[in-house]
Amino acid sequence: PKITTDMETLTREVGRFAQNKKLEIEALKIRENYRKEFLGNVSHELKTPLFTVQGYILTLLDGAMKDKSVRKKYLNRANKGVERLTYIIKDLDMITKLEVGDLNLDKERFNIIELVENVFDLLEMKAGKKKINLTFDKVYTDSIFVNADKERIQQVLTNLLVNSIKYGQKNGTTEVSIEDLIENKVIVRIVDNGEGIEQVHLPRLFERFYRVDKSGSRKEGGSGLGLSIVKHIIEAHNEKIYVESQFGIGSEFSFTLEKAK
Ligand code: ADP
Repeated sequence: PKITTDMETLTREVGRFAQNKKLEIEALKIRENYRKEFLGNVSHELKTPLFTVQGYILTLLDGAMKDKSVRKKYLNRANKGVERLTYIIKDLDMITKLEVGDLNLDKERFNIIELVENVFDLLEMKAGKKKINLTFDKVYTDSIFVNADKERIQQVLTNLLVNSIKYGQKNGTTEVSIEDLIENKVIVRIVDNGEGIEQVHLPRLFERFYRVDKSGSRKEGGSGLGLSIVKHIIEAHNEKIYVESQFGIGSEFSFTLEKAK
């Protein structure tokens, strides 16, 4: 009976080993495809602004340099292109770190209301240019403490608010509110009355490089990485992020955070 048991064990072990190898190979294949697709996307994203910058430089070399005002205009545009490249590279750097799990969270207790107010201050000019009103519905308190990586949550708020400005309409409104739930959670909501998103796009919205209107969003100068960075950060906190939207009416992005004692 001992031998039978051993044979059974052995067969089971061999089977398990083969199954594990198969899964490993599958995982490698997925990773390899992912890597190829990622590199393809990256070079595509970098090419567009690079060609723009090169276009201005070539025009300058071609004679546009002689006219002082044209020279200034083209140099400014080339500089904008380089700025855009810098943003994209920064986002790429961040997404790579997040996707390989290389980003350690540095959790601390902080006042989320104060953080929202700081981000508002930083974005005031950007919102003002588009005459978008940023409002904060504080309701009943000046402080709600959460336990999270403050710098990363600042990035989440910034990305979501910048989007609500980019895809908002002139004289529109973005309202942030924070709901202090009874359980150990808070929900932060960012609601805009901008262009909205059609339902078909919602399931893929948080994928990296995913854009609703490719030409429109490109005009707005994003990298298509903003929302995937947001999702990674929230999920690294073991929290949830939601989107609801109605085309032509507006969007609501919300995420949860852990309440601090
Ligand atoms: P991007 O750099 O293109 O802004 P994101 O990942 O931040 O990339 O957003 C992905 C896409 O989701 C955007 O291109 C845009 O089409 C859509 N989107 C994001 N936020 C909003 C919003 N508040 N209102 C309407 N559309 C939005």
